[in-house]
Amino acid sequence: MPIDATQPYDDDNLFAKILRDEIPSKRVYEDDYAIAFHDIAPQAPTHLLVIPRGRYVSWDDFSTRASEAEIAGFVRAVGTVARAAGMVEPGYRLLANTGGHGGQEVPHLHVHIFAGRPLGPMLA
Ligand code: IMP
Repeated sequence: MPIDATQPYDDDNLFAKILRDEIPSKRVYEDDYAIAFHDIAPQAPTHLLVIPRGRYVSWDDFSTRASEAEIAGFVRAVGTVARAAGMVEPGYRLLANTGGHGGQEVPHLHVHIFAGRPLGPMLA
């Protein structure tokens, strides 16, 4: 069920539990600002999710409330994860579903990284 991107942060959301290691995940990266793990239902040969450690519901929430250090740290983490996985060539796709029409299901900001095959003009 898609979320309302303006809702208050819910500390019991799925990715909050993954951050606290209350739910297992296949973690591939972590630093002071972000963690990355494999999506449980991959839509490409490689499908990773990168989430900030901070309590942000959506891209909108993050881009309006996060500090400059958090924003820089998160953006760098996304790039680092993709580079470490050898995705820079032949390439990858980033996606941040936001709110209901964006199809966002988990109310903790996450950036999808898709790679491993030609992805076409759009992922619907
Ligand atoms: P959204 O639609 O952009 O919110 O994406 C949520 C993503 O979380 C989907 O791609 C799901 O497959 C993924 N997902 C749901 N539960 C888990 C889990 O427990 N571990 C890893 N990924 C999950």
